[in-house]
Amino acid sequence: MKVFNTLSMKKEEFVPVEEGKVKMYVCGPTVYNFIHIGNARPMIVFDTVRRYFEYKGYDVNFVSNFTDVDDKIIKKAIEEGRTADEVSKQFIEECKKDMAGMNVKPATKHPLATEEIDGMIEMIQKLIDTGYAYEKNGTVYFRTRKFEDYGKLSHKNLDDLQSGGRSLLVTGEDEKEDSLDFVLWKPKKEGEPAWNSPWCDGRPGWHIECSVMSKKYLGEQIDIHAGGEDLVFPHHENEIAQSEAANGKEFAKYWMHNAFLNIDNHKMSKSLGNFRTVREISEQYDLQVLRFFMLSAHYRSPLNFSADLMEASKNGLERILTAVSNLKYLSGTVEIQTMTAEEKEAFEKTKEFVTSFENAMEDDFNTADAVSSVFELVKYANTTANGESSKEYVDGLRAVIVKLSDVLGLIVEKEEELLAEDVEKLIEERQMARKERNFQRADEIRNELLEKGIILEDTREGVKWRKA
Ligand code: AMP
Ligand code: ZN
Repeated sequence: MKVFNTLSMKKEEFVPVEEGKVKMYVCGPTVYNFIHIGNARPMIVFDTVRRYFEYKGYDVNFVSNFTDVDDKIIKKAIEEGRTADEVSKQFIEECKKDMAGMNVKPATKHPLATEEIDGMIEMIQKLIDTGYAYEKNGTVYFRTRKFEDYGKLSHKNLDDLQSGGRSLLVTGEDEKEDSLDFVLWKPKKEGEPAWNSPWCDGRPGWHIECSVMSKKYLGEQIDIHAGGEDLVFPHHENEIAQSEAANGKEFAKYWMHNAFLNIDNHKMSKSLGNFRTVREISEQYDLQVLRFFMLSAHYRSPLNFSADLMEASKNGLERILTAVSNLKYLSGTVEIQTMTAEEKEAFEKTKEFVTSFENAMEDDFNTADAVSSVFELVKYANTTANGESSKEYVDGLRAVIVKLSDVLGLIVEKEEELLAEDVEKLIEERQMARKERNFQRADEIRNELLEKGIILEDTREGVKWRKA
């Protein structure tokens, strides 16, 4: 399997750190608003990467954080007279609903920055003790030049950065030893959330959060670290510096970055007024259409969002859904049960579509070509299955289409719906688990239901549920 690695700027053969396992960390959103369709791109892309590894039999440990302490969250909280915690909790829940709608699997673990402060203080202290960091008036900085490999991910030259950095120095940062140094810990300002630390009451810088959460949940060396291309510099470059300086070993073997999503050929931004949330899209389309749209391009190509392209995606997805539903109908009506010799031969041909699908995915997750293979298979099914076919043949075709679609995270077959009483039973079990403080089981149940498209809402009147 080939993976494009931003470190080498080449496609490299994927060799896991530990055989049969993939340890993957994806930088998650800052939760101060509903997620926008740009944020949805890495979610869908890397969920598909995860699904393909799972299809190949790897055991994937997938960690993705929520950045729940940040200037934007604090600003929003002040504007609305709420606490930062209330704002972030609200938008984490909203984000999880959008993820469920896009059929993005919950991560193995979704750590929250605010719950990992001790680990951050520990890593910062270690960096200070080893000379990689220093404190000035309560602020702790990373001593960038001491980390010799700095710039290896973004392929930037320190001296170029230095000349750019000088003019970018903001007030209060003139105490830095070097304009390249970046913040690990900063003192609190009035009204901001803060934690005790050996340096001052304050909060962590953004980059240290991911270094610490990745280490805690995946270990010192991981296979894949991923996010949108805007994160290459400085976020991921700084993460590498912190983690490799603190742990003394290579942080991530492969760095994957998705290209940006634009709207009508413009950058999406609040000021241009062309900002679209996933929630807005869900009012017009099933979010499966958004997922299908995202996968219709290679993740490293810029992607343009437009009404026309969404309509085309809706029609494309519909073609697969219709084929699957026809095959299901045939399965219940055809008379012959088992495949004839001729059908066996015809069924062998489906392997070619599976192979071309796999070849596309093995080539740095070329989902655009993988989708084409599914279309070819659908066409083949439409032309070879009919009322004269055997049940075994039509069921076989349907199973292959469903399996490949599932690797892409596309739900093309309605599962037997969970009965309301089953949902109620699971909710009761979750309440019991919570009472017994077995939060792990409670979370498991919530995630199990989410995967089946059931969203739980804890309200004052008790737990309510609805379909995604
Ligand atoms: P943020 O909340 O800004 O930290 O973004 C969360 C994730 O979404 C990061 O991986 C970003 O790189 C990614 N992202 C933000 N905007 C876009 C966009 N327009 N297109 C693709 N990815 C994006
Ligand atoms: Zn990160």
